Amino acid sequence: MTAVDSTKTLCPYCGVGCGLEVLPSPQFDQAGSGQELSGQSWKVRGDRAHPSSQGMVCVKGATVAEALNRDRLLYPMIRDSLNDKFRRASWDQALELITARIQTVRSTQGSDGVCMYGSGQLQTEDYYIAQKLLKGCLGTNNFDSNSRLCMSSTVAGYVQSLGSDGPPCCYEDLELTDCVFLIGTNAAECHPISFNRLQKHHKKNPHVKMVVVDPRRTKTAEDADLHLAIHPGTDIDLLNGIAHLLLRWDCVDADFIANHTEGFSEFQEVIQHYSPDVVAERCGISMSDLETAARWWAESNRVLSLWSMGVSQSSEGTAKVRAIINLHLMTGQIGKVGAGPFSLTGQPNAMGGREAGGLCNLLPGYRHVKFLEQRAEVEQFWGVPAGQISSNWGRTAWDIITGLETDEVGLLWIVATNPAVSLPDLERVKAALWRSPFTIQQDAYYPTETAKFAHVLLPAAQWGEKTGTMTNSERTVTLCQAFCLPPGEARPDWEIIAEVGCRLGFADKFPFISSAEVFAEYVQLTQGRVCDMSGLSHDRLRQEGPLQWPCPKEESGIKVAENLAPIPDQSLPKAAKPAKRLYTDHQFSSADGRARFSADHSRGLAEPPDAAYPFVLTTGRLYGHWHTQTRTGRIEKIRRMHPNPFLEIHPRDAAKIGVEDHSIIEVRSRRGVARFPAKVTTAIAPGTVFVPIHWGELWADQAEANAMTHERSCPDSKQPELKACAVQLTPI
Ligand code: SF4
Repeated sequence: MTAVDSTKTLCPYCGVGCGLEVLPSPQFDQAGSGQELSGQSWKVRGDRAHPSSQGMVCVKGATVAEALNRDRLLYPMIRDSLNDKFRRASWDQALELITARIQTVRSTQGSDGVCMYGSGQLQTEDYYIAQKLLKGCLGTNNFDSNSRLCMSSTVAGYVQSLGSDGPPCCYEDLELTDCVFLIGTNAAECHPISFNRLQKHHKKNPHVKMVVVDPRRTKTAEDADLHLAIHPGTDIDLLNGIAHLLLRWDCVDADFIANHTEGFSEFQEVIQHYSPDVVAERCGISMSDLETAARWWAESNRVLSLWSMGVSQSSEGTAKVRAIINLHLMTGQIGKVGAGPFSLTGQPNAMGGREAGGLCNLLPGYRHVKFLEQRAEVEQFWGVPAGQISSNWGRTAWDIITGLETDEVGLLWIVATNPAVSLPDLERVKAALWRSPFTIQQDAYYPTETAKFAHVLLPAAQWGEKTGTMTNSERTVTLCQAFCLPPGEARPDWEIIAEVGCRLGFADKFPFISSAEVFAEYVQLTQGRVCDMSGLSHDRLRQEGPLQWPCPKEESGIKVAENLAPIPDQSLPKAAKPAKRLYTDHQFSSADGRARFSADHSRGLAEPPDAAYPFVLTTGRLYGHWHTQTRTGRIEKIRRMHPNPFLEIHPRDAAKIGVEDHSIIEVRSRRGVARFPAKVTTAIAPGTVFVPIHWGELWADQAEANAMTHERSCPDSKQPELKACAVQLTPI
C-alpha cells in the first residue's frame, strides 16, 4: 500500500456494519515540535460506497484505530496454576500444551469435556474453522458464543415463525416505511447509524410515525411521536393488546392469513384475553396510547418493527420475537418494501456467526443439529464419519459455567470475549472460572478481566490485521481487509484453531493457506440454503464491494427486480445494487412454505420485584462504549465521553430512599452487590433503575451490572434474562 492508498474494511463494533476506509496517518509530537514520531497510526473515515452506511460512522467507528497499539497481547503466555505469574512461551510450546490437554480430556472425559466460547467479534472464517474442529473433528457441539447473550431469542423466533433465521428486511426500509415500531432497542445509542437513517426519514416526512416502547425515556424515545414506557416484562401484554385491537377493528389481512400462515385461530384465542383495559393496566400506560399505537399500525401502508436486546435478553425472549412477528403476519406487513420484522443485531458478525453455525445448536448454512439430514450433509461435506455430529445441543454459555461447577468441563477455550464481565451472576461465574482445570484465553488485549482465570493466553490478530468477512444486520457481507501486520507474534484466530486441529491429527481437514480458501470452502455449505452465499468469494467482494445474501452461485449480477425500490433521499449516494429482501413471494422457509402464528401468553419477569427487593434493575449500553470496554476503554475520547458508571433513578424513588444526584447507592440483588453514583432523572420510571453494562473490575471498583443479574433464560433460546432483576437500594 502506498502512502495515499486507503483500505476498505468494516467497523468491528456493532451489527449495523458500517463501511470504513483506513489511511496511514503520520503521528506528530504533541508537544508541538513538529517532529514526526516513529510508529504507525491510522486515520479512519466512513466509506461512502458502502451500501449499509453511505459514509456515516459513529464515535466508535471513527476512533477504532486508536486502540490498535494499546495494551496488546504480543506473545503466548502460560502458567501452571492461576496463582502463578504468566511466563512467555513459544507458539510451539503453547500449542503443544493445548493439544496435549485436549487429548487428555478426550481420553478421560470424552470430547464433551472440551468447550469453546467464541464471539460475534470473530470473522466468519474464524467461526467456520472452529465449527469444523469442534463439531466435525472432535465430535462435540460444545461451541457457543456470546451471541447466546445477544440474539439467540431472535434466531429461535425467526426459525419458529418463518422457518429460518435471517432478518427479512434491509436498511433501505428505514427510509421507506410509514410507521416504525421500535421495541426494546435504544437504537439512537446502540445502532446509531441505522437510527440516523431512520431519524432523517422521520424528520423529512411528517406522515411517518415513530413508536418507541421502552421503560426508559432513551435518546431513541426522545424522537418518538409516541413513547410507551411500559413496565419491564410486559412486552407480550402490549403486543397481544395491539393484536387484540387490530382484530377487533377488523384491520387484518385475511387473504394473507389464509394463504400464507398457520395457527391463526389459536392465536385469536389467546389475544381475546388482552383487552385494552387489561393491557393498559398491566403495562402502566394509558388506553388511548395503546389505541394510538394500534391505530397507526392499522392505518400505515408499510410498518417496520425494530428490536434488539430489550426483547431478546429475556426469559420469554423467543415468545416476544414471535409476538412481534404475529403482528406483521396478521396485517400482511412482511416481504414488502418498507415493512417487516427487522432485528438489529448486536455484534458486528453475530449474523456471520449464525450463518456459519456458531452456536451450540447450529451447523453451517443455518442448519440445526437436531435434523439427521442436515447433520449428514455437513458430515459428508467435511468427510467425517456418519454420526460424528451429535444430535444434542452442546453446552450453552451458561451450561459451560455449570459444567465447570460439576467438573464436567475439563478444558475451556475462550476466544475474543470477556465472560468475567459479560455473563450474568458474576460471582458464580468467577467462582466457576477459578475452578476450571484448564482455560485458554485467545484475545488481542491484555489485561482483561477474564485473563485472570486463564492458564494460557494466545495473542490474536484483530481488526485491520487479518482479512476475513463479516455479515451485518441487513445480510450484507463485507470483506474486512487487513491494512497492517499483527503486533508481536499475534496470529489470526482461524489460523490458531486450524493449527491445533492439525496437531490433533486432522491436518487433512485444515489444508488452508489463507482465509480466502477457508471462505471458499465455507460458502459451498450455504448453497441452496436461505443464506446462500455460494456466489461469493473474497475476490468478488474485493472487486464489487459488499454484497447482500442470498447470493447464489448461478447468480450472474444481481437479479432482484421485485425488490427494486426508489432511492428515497436523493442527497444520499445511489446504492450501486438494489437491496434484497426475503419472502417477497410470501413463500416462507418452513416445509410447507407457510409462516406460523405463535399463541403465547405473557409470563412477565423471571424475577419480579417483591418486598425484600422492591426495584427492577434494568441494564443497557451507552453511545460510546462497546460491551466490556476491552477496546473502547483504551480510547481516550470515549473514556472522556463516558468517564464513570452511574445509576439512573426517578426523583420520587431518590427522595424515598434519601439520595440526591451523585450520592452513592449500593445496589444489591439475591446474587451480588455493586455501587454507583446516582443520576436522578425522570427519564426512568418510578420503581425501575438503570445501570450501564460496561464497567468491569479493570475500569471501576464494584460497578459490575452483572454482579446483580441472574441466569434464568428463555426455554427456547437459552438466552439469559440480562435485562432485568429485582434489587434493593441503600444509600451509602
Ligand atoms: Fe461501528 Fe456500529 Fe458505529 Fe457503525 S454504528 S460506526 S458499525 S459502532
